[in-house]
Amino acid sequence: MSSPYDVIVVGLGGMGSATVRHLAARGVRVLGLEQFTPAHDRGSSHGGSRVIRQSYFEDPAYVPLLLRAYELWEEAEKDASVDLLTLTGGLYLGPERSTTFAGSLRAAQEWDLPHEVLDARAVRERFPTITPAAGEVAVYEERAGFVRPEATVAAHLDLAARDGADLRFGLQVRDVVETGDGVTVRTSDGTFTAGHVVVSPGAWAPSLLRDLGLPLRVERQVQYWFAPPGGVEPFVDNPVYVSEQAGGAQIYGFPAIDGPRGGVKVAFFRRGTDADPDALDRVVTDAEVDEMRARVADTLPSLVGPLVKAVPCMYTTTPDEHFVIRRRDRVTVACGFSGHGFKFVPVIGEICADLATTGTTAHPIGLFDSERLT
Ligand SMILES: Cc1cc2nc3c(=O)[nH]c(=O)nc-3n(C[C@H](O)[C@H](O)[C@H](O)COP(=O)(O)OP(=O)(O)OC[C@H]3O[C@@H](n4cnc5c(N)ncnc54)[C@H](O)[C@@H]3O)c2cc1C
Repeated sequence: MSSPYDVIVVGLGGMGSATVRHLAARGVRVLGLEQFTPAHDRGSSHGGSRVIRQSYFEDPAYVPLLLRAYELWEEAEKDASVDLLTLTGGLYLGPERSTTFAGSLRAAQEWDLPHEVLDARAVRERFPTITPAAGEVAVYEERAGFVRPEATVAAHLDLAARDGADLRFGLQVRDVVETGDGVTVRTSDGTFTAGHVVVSPGAWAPSLLRDLGLPLRVERQVQYWFAPPGGVEPFVDNPVYVSEQAGGAQIYGFPAIDGPRGGVKVAFFRRGTDADPDALDRVVTDAEVDEMRARVADTLPSLVGPLVKAVPCMYTTTPDEHFVIRRRDRVTVACGFSGHGFKFVPVIGEICADLATTGTTAHPIGLFDSERLT
């Protein structure tokens, strides 16, 4: 019996929702399957904001993908008539040899991205709430800011549905099995077949893709919002920032974008604890809040105030913190986004749609092949 679908996408979070959007826009008959509701808060794509930046300290190889992602963010905003990306400027601070400073500078120079180098005093003058230690330095770039994760997922799902995608929620995929001439996806509510399957399961990758033996670690990571005692006003015009202190620990944060009573968001980059996605501990302890507050006190002392809220989320991390994107036969896998994937969401959707429909992509994704991990 022939299948009504060309491609099935498993998991409609950040990456899966962008993938169904791109596939449907190309006229592909696509089925999207998600265990929870649209734009839910039980995976990795919630919390209101995600940093987006171009001078990429993780590796300059990501820059061309970012340049394409910016184009696609704008396109999605226009197509869906919603605000998804806001440019605020971005500041990457630390000791001169830190990954955050030196890596950002290297990427900016290699790709000729507009940027400025600021010393500690210049940072304090320009952004009075941000107080680096003497001797620290920063890369500042204008074309950085934040994107809205829940609104992005919702917009991509809406666009996909508008173009004819069949999207189903509240059913869990049990397994994905290749047969001679297609792929069979068994779920808690029926079995589906297609010519190709894209699997983008976020923190459920270690269980759903266990046969691949990928060395993935799921981490619990908390997002904190503090109420500055002097009000949020001084934080409204801040850039997004990543601040690295001696020892390598990084914190990052946002301007005041959640209204006068919404607090100002800040978090640790990495340094999470092991997590089970089906039993994520949603209680944030006083000790955790105190640790975050102590770190904020170094770089943004005027932000240290009462906690407004703290929301856990999950990273799915590879040993080298680079993504996994690969196609083998009839299955494409996109996972292991290692806590820095959201800014790439629309271009990952484009790449997965390329791989699913043509077997290849013009985007540079050599860094993401899973061969490197085995
Ligand atoms: C606290 C925090 C802060 C972050 N900050 C940034 C940032 O500032 N900038 C940035 O670029 N990135 C950031 N990230 C990383 C980024 O958000 C993630 O890389 C990205 O959201 C991952 O998207 P995903 O599609 O892989 O996972 P998800 O969005 O979680 O989607 C996976 C989906 O698959 C579904 N699923 C899984 N298994 C099944 C199954 N068996 N059947 C059906 N459905 C299934 C899940 O329910 C889920 O909806 C942050 C992440 C966290 C947690």
